[in-house]
Amino acid sequence: MNPFDLSGKIALVTGANTGLGQAIAAALAQAGADVALAGRSNMAETQAAVEAAGRRALPIKADLSSLEPVERIVAETVAWGGRLDILVNNAGIIRRADAIDFTEADWDAVMDVNLKAAFFLSQAAARRMIPQGGGKIVNIASLLSFQGGIRIPSYTASKSGLAGLTRLLACEWAGKGVNVNAIAPGYFVTNNTQALIADKARHDAILARIPAGHWGRPQEIGGAAVFLSSAAADYVHGVVLPVDGGWLAR
Ligand code: NAP
Repeated sequence: MNPFDLSGKIALVTGANTGLGQAIAAALAQAGADVALAGRSNMAETQAAVEAAGRRALPIKADLSSLEPVERIVAETVAWGGRLDILVNNAGIIRRADAIDFTEADWDAVMDVNLKAAFFLSQAAARRMIPQGGGKIVNIASLLSFQGGIRIPSYTASKSGLAGLTRLLACEWAGKGVNVNAIAPGYFVTNNTQALIADKARHDAILARIPAGHWGRPQEIGGAAVFLSSAAADYVHGVVLPVDGGWLAR
């Protein structure tokens, strides 16, 4: 038996239309899961990737800047798949400005998607997973769960908060069969990092510090998500797993 096999599992990935969420949805499908894809943009590309792996996909239109869609996302997934085994809280945004000028609007917008929605989706998912005998929750954290960064105060606060929340939920739910863990991606080429990539000096300075010698490619995140979603991680609780080309080892 392959402990990484996700055959028969029902997964839900937020922010799955692009970037890391898309790559994670495809990787879960390649490992055997059917995948619900929740987000505010068109999921056609990701749906095609899931179906190319021979699995089913369910696009769910949802804007996670409020809690309004949270119950509906989980209910639609369960109505479609009959259960919910894996939740990946991936949807996230970033706002850049010096701390001295940072606005309340940029604080709230980031905290609402990155932290508040992730918590209440986890709660809604766990309310299904615990009665069904267990499940896996994977939060997409950041290097800013460990480090300070500059010009992204609400992002650093949200991702540091998400790491703490991952540990708290692990403590509460580990004994109930639900594994809560996180992945901390390093610097990956996605929409999220476009501003950094466009700034050649920042891009090159970051690259020079990455032991692996290249920025992350979205497909390099999938294996960690499959691991934390699988039986191979049944005794893994509350970790924040860096997938960062060695950045934090430096
Ligand atoms: P991305 O391409 O910008 O993807 C972000 C995803 O979140 C998109 O699908 C986006 O949908 C979705 N999203 C944002 N606001 C939403 C909302 N209100 N409701 C529903 N969905 C929403 O960037 P990414 O790099 O793949 O980011 C994925 C996750 O990885 C984020 O949590 C990010 O913080 C984290 N991360 C990324 C890096 C990196 O280097 N790229 C590093 C560390 C952590 P739209 O396309 O509709 O905006």
